[in-house]
Amino acid sequence: MALIVKKFGGSSVATPEKIFNIVDRVLREKKEDDKVVIVVSAMGDTTDDLVALAKEVTSKPYGREMDRLLSTGEQVTIALMAMAFNERGHKAMSLTGDQAGITSTDTFNKGRILGVDPNRVFEALDEGNIVVVAGFQGITEYGDMVTLGRGGSDTTAVALAGAMKADVCEIFTDVEGVYSTDPRVAKEAFKLEEVTYGEMLEMARLGAGVMQPRAVEMGFRYGVPIHVRSTFSDNTGTIIREDYTVEANKHVITGVADDTNTAKVALVGVENKP
Ligand code: ADP
Ligand code: ASP
Ligand code: MG
Repeated sequence: MALIVKKFGGSSVATPEKIFNIVDRVLREKKEDDKVVIVVSAMGDTTDDLVALAKEVTSKPYGREMDRLLSTGEQVTIALMAMAFNERGHKAMSLTGDQAGITSTDTFNKGRILGVDPNRVFEALDEGNIVVVAGFQGITEYGDMVTLGRGGSDTTAVALAGAMKADVCEIFTDVEGVYSTDPRVAKEAFKLEEVTYGEMLEMARLGAGVMQPRAVEMGFRYGVPIHVRSTFSDNTGTIIREDYTVEANKHVITGVADDTNTAKVALVGVENKP
């Protein structure tokens, strides 16, 4: 028996057809006594669309009400995916971040996970369900919904896997794994077989958007092996772990990341005086 947490990002769940593809794949791969928890993002560009919608109403698209709005995206996906499992004849239950026991700081729009109490998830698994959890959200001590920063479903998945002592956390996305650089930017990019938490953290912090940095930190802290792989193929992706298992996979330079949201400001002609 294995306990597996699988996370599917926005482009992987963008349409009902894609949701059914995931459901069919999960059911095909699941061994009878495996316990499967699925963490999902909002469908396609839903989160961007919700941000744009808020901007039509307010000049301050942030804070508590923004999180009320943004957290709805993931809730659509969990409901549809649980329905799709039921439609295929398998028991499934959707849970919000709150119901999955994820507590967060009250820093709206950039919450940090304070703790995970996965009791309800275990109960639902014991009742024979595949459990579908909304990523990107936690609850404050006052019961307010907080989102975990863009890309935060990765962090939900790894935190849940850590708290549940899962055998592996699989991050399914629209590329085949972690590459030496963004494969959509550079054709020459090659897939890395393995990468350490430390290297992945550096790449993620510098802009490699394939994983949220906090998810990598969480994996390191709880020693959860993370398998980044494609939703659209069965190929093995990249394993993020403590250290290399194959010496030959070590590189002097592991990856190159870029961040197009950073501006450099240079002040010239400033007197060299404190
Ligand atoms: P998801 O919706 O599944 O969370 P993201 O868009 O957040 O997907 O992350 C996947 C994207 O990350 C890829 O489509 C790719 O363009 C980008 N990316 C940036 N750097 C890398 C890298 N080093 N390796 C793989 N993908 C990368
Ligand atoms: N839906 C959120 C976002 O677009 C969280 C995620 O996809 O991980 O950032
Ligand atoms: Mg992402």
